[in-house]
Amino acid sequence: MESIVIIGAGHSAVEAALTLRKKGWEHDICILSQESALPYQRPQLSKGYIDGSVLEEKLALKQRELYNKNNIEIKLGTKAIKINRSRRIIETSKNENIPYSHLIIATGTRPRPLTISGSHLLDVNYLRSLDDAKKIKSKLAAGRRLLVIGAGYIGLELAASATKLNCKVTVVEAEERVLARVTSEVVSTFYQNLHRAHGVEIKLNTNIQTIHKVSSGFEAIMSDATTIEFDTIVVGIGVLPNTQLAEESGLVCSNGIVVNERAQTSDPLIYAIGDCSNHPNEFYQKQIRLESIPNALEQARVAAANICGSPSSYNSIPWFWSNQYNVKLQTVGLSEGYEEIVVRGTPADNVFCVFYLKDKRLIAMDAINSSADFLKAKTHILNKNTITTAQLTETTKAWFEPV
Ligand SMILES: Cc1cc2nc3c(=O)[nH]c(=O)nc-3n(C[C@H](O)[C@H](O)[C@H](O)COP(=O)(O)OP(=O)(O)OC[C@H]3O[C@@H](n4cnc5c(N)ncnc54)[C@H](O)[C@@H]3O)c2cc1C
Repeated sequence: MESIVIIGAGHSAVEAALTLRKKGWEHDICILSQESALPYQRPQLSKGYIDGSVLEEKLALKQRELYNKNNIEIKLGTKAIKINRSRRIIETSKNENIPYSHLIIATGTRPRPLTISGSHLLDVNYLRSLDDAKKIKSKLAAGRRLLVIGAGYIGLELAASATKLNCKVTVVEAEERVLARVTSEVVSTFYQNLHRAHGVEIKLNTNIQTIHKVSSGFEAIMSDATTIEFDTIVVGIGVLPNTQLAEESGLVCSNGIVVNERAQTSDPLIYAIGDCSNHPNEFYQKQIRLESIPNALEQARVAAANICGSPSSYNSIPWFWSNQYNVKLQTVGLSEGYEEIVVRGTPADNVFCVFYLKDKRLIAMDAINSSADFLKAKTHILNKNTITTAQLTETTKAWFEPV
């Protein structure tokens, strides 16, 4: 009998289930979620949910009625524990055996754990799920001292949200600048200044060596011999793809579950989508694993279309956004390997763009409070247009107009 099981209930899972219905899939769809809440907007966990501007009841991706109307079964609190490929069944933590004709793995990622001496003495927090966010939120209040380990997007967004709650925030980063893995120095410097202007202490080139309990809370001894006292610690040092089930069932995995352009794994009946998948990107001519909502949604649509018999290939330019204070960053493309960098606008005005060029082509762009430029860049990257530095820097004209 035809039926689809989706393991995981995040952004990609919900999109896949709804697209399957739109494309005419008439058989069973069952989503397995190890979490207890209906699928929710994960990006808000470090933003509006923590700072209180978005209430928990507004986080749901869709209301229960919509799943019912589309005959999509969601089994909450149910973890998939084994993929039995020979019998085509999923074994769950509730001792069920759920059959599938097609399987979609949408298990996302889990936080990379912190391993330092003394960390067993305290409650180390990570921010991935609604339960994590609830726990962190319950510990933040005016005057509380928050220590954030890792200055990636999640760490910095959390720092911004906690600052709005009047917490005293310190961010510690092992690299020499924030967001070092994902952007250029000019954008990193902008964010360092932004956070410092809001009272956040940022310590770069620093690692935690040990943590001690002290009478007023906790104390971290840093690699530069300084100390930081804090009440709550949140670690945001990256994530690991949830590939255990796939690996144990013999699917090919390498920094994620390896899929083709149709989102199919090494077993043609099994698809993997979203953060857990490692997929080919035609534009950049390499396999990549992305951690972003647009990627999760697009891969879900591709998998659903292929299952429904309308051949579809993933061919999207990666993009991402981050909100911190009153600044919206939108990034399109991957800047890795760029040869030239052009800044248009003034960082001090909180409105500027950073263009990354390779072989006279735009390969990526960071837009700070510049949504129209972001959209324009997306088109030029997709079209592989040749572009000159002069076409970007001539400020009396819109960029990329003939100079
Ligand atoms: C705090 C935070 C802020 C973010 N902000 C942004 C942003 O601003 N912009 C952006 O583009 N992206 C952002 N992201 C990243 C974005 O949320 C992810 O890219 C997206 O959620 C990926 O969707 P997914 O469906 O692949 O996985 P997820 O949304 O992670 O969903 C996977 C689900 O599978 C469940 N699961 C795992 N294993 C099992 C199992 N064995 N059985 C049952 N269930 C299982 C997990 O519990 C989880 O609910 C943010 C992420 C976080 C954590």
